[in-house]
Amino acid sequence: MHKKTIAELANDLKNKKISAVELTQHFIDRIKKLDTKLNAFITLAEEKALKDAKRADEMIGNGKATALTGIPIAHKDLFCTQNIKTTAGSKILSNFIPPYDATVVKKLDQAGTILLGKTNCDEFAMGSSNKTSFYGRVNNPWDVNTVPGGSSGGSAAAVAARMLKGATGTDTGGSIRQPAALSGITGIKPTYGRVSRYGIVALGSSLDQAGILTPTAEDAALLLEAISGFDEKDSTSVDQPVPHYYAHLNDSVKGLRIGLPKECFTKDLDAEIANSVYQGAKVLEKLGATLHDISLPRSQLGIPIYYVIMPAECSSNLARYDGVRFGYRCENPKDLNDLYERTRSEGFGDEVKHRIMIGTYVLSASYYDAYYKKAQQLRRLIYDDYQNAFKEVDIILYPTSPSVAFKHGEKENRISMYLADIFTVTLNLAGLPGISIPSGFKNGLPIGLQLIGNHFEETKLLNVAHQYQKATDWHTQIPKGFE
Ligand code: GLN
Repeated sequence: MHKKTIAELANDLKNKKISAVELTQHFIDRIKKLDTKLNAFITLAEEKALKDAKRADEMIGNGKATALTGIPIAHKDLFCTQNIKTTAGSKILSNFIPPYDATVVKKLDQAGTILLGKTNCDEFAMGSSNKTSFYGRVNNPWDVNTVPGGSSGGSAAAVAARMLKGATGTDTGGSIRQPAALSGITGIKPTYGRVSRYGIVALGSSLDQAGILTPTAEDAALLLEAISGFDEKDSTSVDQPVPHYYAHLNDSVKGLRIGLPKECFTKDLDAEIANSVYQGAKVLEKLGATLHDISLPRSQLGIPIYYVIMPAECSSNLARYDGVRFGYRCENPKDLNDLYERTRSEGFGDEVKHRIMIGTYVLSASYYDAYYKKAQQLRRLIYDDYQNAFKEVDIILYPTSPSVAFKHGEKENRISMYLADIFTVTLNLAGLPGISIPSGFKNGLPIGLQLIGNHFEETKLLNVAHQYQKATDWHTQIPKGFE
């Protein structure tokens, strides 16, 4: 059952080959059996899941089912879920039970999906390995000695191990696409403003965007359609109709112009990754697309710009965790300052503290112009580079990650961890959508190919990814021991 697509399962549910309760139980059993090896979940919502499955069976019985009714999913533990603990991977929110649902959570609930639980992530989504979570590291099902990527590592590992049909993630600098690549699955980060950020724990407000991790682009199309759309509760959500992504999956890619930026395929790039991604481009060429050399001249500025803007925004967003309103509070504070100081030093982990300090520094009166303002100005140039490229091509193709999954404990040096984001952060700076799909293996570990579209071109990305997956079988491979 866990190998079928969402559409196939929806069909089985409709034809009463299986009930939503049976399907839910199947996945809960898998999680209980398999997650001891992975630690992909922070919270399991078994009781609620089975209750919701009964409701799904009723919806199906009454002819009120949507394409997603009865389909088991999970949310990254950054999405507020009413009456279910939401930790953001942090000690400071270890006792936080939100009184409301994020818009994404509500939308999927209304569609009739079954929420199995909340997935592990880097603390406040800061990281590329999932090692910064207060709830322990997540293991990659392809090799449990390696990382699943981050920060949506729990969602990625859970999908890769087929413990559910799809999971949500957030992507501020690559946290959907990079773990998707390292875990051998499909992950889409939509255009900034496509999906409501309401009720998602904020990291970098001008960069954050929610999206979907699934085994295939076909599954992603169904889930992305359900969570997209305008929300008056998020002032940056864009009021544009949501296309029927699923209906366009089989559009022809004949004549599609694909750009390969020379800055992303340098001699420094791992040869096996370069070859796998290039062969991926050749597959699309065989389907009728044309390949073009392009340039994104300022892409190497992505990391320094991102690692000024993101800490600045997160230092401001994280000011709210003060021990007064919600979350962890230190014992017996002497006075208000002691309460703030000890709550925050005891509640936050090292990476979060590091970024709050950098962020506060670049926003301070004497350094604002030199760092924060300068980074914002340079950010515009990254945007311009992409817009210039999109005058020549329809989509852009390059690797998602410069390496395959690395070992736990590797990249202890902060800079080397930050450099893992080299191929992902520029999209967030420019607000563009991107999808990562599996394109091969190196030493038994998955390689991810990234497709980038102009704003609101998710339809095209899902279409091209689906055509690629029809022509290849990388996405059908399941890690040993999780079949
Ligand atoms: N790895 C990046 C970081 O550490 C991206 C995080 C994200 O997208 N949430 O900031």
